[in-house]
Amino acid sequence: MSHPIETYRVYAIKYAHHARRSSANFIGGDPHDVPMPLDYFVWAIVGKERTWLVDTGFDQAAGDKRGGRKIIRPIQEGLMALGIRPDSVQEVIITHMHYDHAGNRELFPNARYHVQDKEMAFCTGRCMCHQPLAVHFEPDDVASMVHKVFAGRVDFHDGDDQIAPGISVHHMGGHTAGMQVVRVHTEKGWIVLASDASHFYANIQEKRPFPAVYNVADMMEGYRRIYSLADRPEMVIPGHDPQVLERFPAVSRDLEGWIVRLDAGPR
Ligand SMILES: [Zn+2]
Ligand SMILES: [Zn+2]
Repeated sequence: MSHPIETYRVYAIKYAHHARRSSANFIGGDPHDVPMPLDYFVWAIVGKERTWLVDTGFDQAAGDKRGGRKIIRPIQEGLMALGIRPDSVQEVIITHMHYDHAGNRELFPNARYHVQDKEMAFCTGRCMCHQPLAVHFEPDDVASMVHKVFAGRVDFHDGDDQIAPGISVHHMGGHTAGMQVVRVHTEKGWIVLASDASHFYANIQEKRPFPAVYNVADMMEGYRRIYSLADRPEMVIPGHDPQVLERFPAVSRDLEGWIVRLDAGPR
């Protein structure tokens, strides 16, 4: 007799916001050129016995360095609102090493980190000699991850890997060389945390790639593969789209506009 796969609660926690126009969100621009802001999220996968944090965001000091990326609520506040103490987090999955996904580097002293081989090679190698690629990385975040490697706190993944029953990572590349997405089993089926493999719903739905990119062909191929990993297209969660907070139910009324429950399915 086969056992049912464990299901998880999955939360999207917004922590920052950045105003920009739609022309900045697509290769080739956007003829409508309307306001199209980015929200910034981390995600928490909560199982019966263990919690996985997906990405670690950035703090206000890092936001200030990048011209007006405003922290709405530090990620530790969002986690605490869910009863998750940062020092209790034991597992962190890093989708990629960009500053807005791999900051807050001292906040999780007891965590192991899951990263793709290709991402560490990318952010410590010759590609970082090229300013358009390097600009999205914070050298101190990268150095901190190197220290974690030497401290025995990093689990490397090469391609697709199971993290736990019902949780797996899948290498996509495209946005960065080692970009990975996270597939999670929920009561409503398989969802995919796409992170920056698709910043907005529009990138993946309309197959219009985001301009911050290492390899456009892999990004386009990723859009197809991401859909194939989710039970339904609406179960793919983009990395920066404010609509996520409208499409999914808030955890409770006081967390409206801040933390939503992805495993409940779109409302
Ligand atoms: Zn990114
Ligand atoms: Zn990002």
